[in-house]
Amino acid sequence: MITSQMVKDVARNCGADIVGIGSMDRFEGAPLQYDPRYIMPEAKAIIGLGFRIHRGLLRGIEEGTYFAAYPAMGYANINDVYAPMVLREVGNFIEDNGHEAFLYSNGSVRLGCGIGKPVAPGKPKPDVFLHFRIAGVICGMGEIGYSKMFLTPEFGPRQRLAFILTDAPLEPDPLFEGKICDGCMKCVRACPGKAISKDEKVRVTVAGKELAWGQINDRKCSTAYQAGTREINPFMPSEEVAATIDGIINDTGEKGEKGMTSYTGNVWGYLRENVPYIKRCWESFHHPATICGGRGCIRACMSHLEERGVLKNKFEAPFRRRKEWKLQPEAAAAVNA
Ligand code: SF4
Repeated sequence: MITSQMVKDVARNCGADIVGIGSMDRFEGAPLQYDPRYIMPEAKAIIGLGFRIHRGLLRGIEEGTYFAAYPAMGYANINDVYAPMVLREVGNFIEDNGHEAFLYSNGSVRLGCGIGKPVAPGKPKPDVFLHFRIAGVICGMGEIGYSKMFLTPEFGPRQRLAFILTDAPLEPDPLFEGKICDGCMKCVRACPGKAISKDEKVRVTVAGKELAWGQINDRKCSTAYQAGTREINPFMPSEEVAATIDGIINDTGEKGEKGMTSYTGNVWGYLRENVPYIKRCWESFHHPATICGGRGCIRACMSHLEERGVLKNKFEAPFRRRKEWKLQPEAAAAVNA
């Protein structure tokens, strides 16, 4: 019979940086569309795997001199190459021992969740969405910070997750009882998309534990995370695009300050069509550009956690070594994209 320790050893030997195991009953109360027990009704355990984003991958954006490493190696490589290989190896081990392994990578959600028709009454619409950050909590790997980023004691906000559902009866880890986020609000202040509310909170209860985080405006985050703003995007192709992005972030409505027009269509499609750097990222890595580089929710957060000395992954030098750069507003538009 396989044990939790055996699965953890295999996962670590294959390259996972963090491993946690949760029981499926911890999903009790999850909305139908977000309940992975509908994917594998006989599942007894969920295995969470964490893969570090190297701190150095954020260096080029921090210095303003190299933006491709983070989407290439910090997103696409982990989500589409490395994590699936580790998932596969752990899955092999589980299935070689007579149990099923359902491998759920971060790329699985890109086909669309809940967009099909239920195949029978009482079933959710395909595809069911696994809420990664809540699943991380269920696996005892860490907590959800105020920014809604998943935080671990090892790397703070600096990892990506992948999961396996299995009918192997694995012993679960306890829920994480520590406290990483101290509510400093540096994520809120540094977010270029003004996407994290400082007052409004989302509250959910998972496995008897109350979780809360700041309300995120997905539209603003999607825009700023991919394209930044005129102050932080050295690839901004035109004043018109910069004004549209300003319009979305500032919610200026139809005609806002300086005549900016808020864009009401599909943000992802707009950015892909109108920002050549983002289009090239999609074509090269099947991932959007990340011009923001998590200025608030990753870099400001991580710097703060490192200063407090609460992360296990230690470095000799602090991450933030210079004052944060910002482009002059007049230089932000109409550069060579
Ligand atoms: S990714 Fe960027 S825009 Fe989105 S919440 Fe984080 S700091 Fe804000």
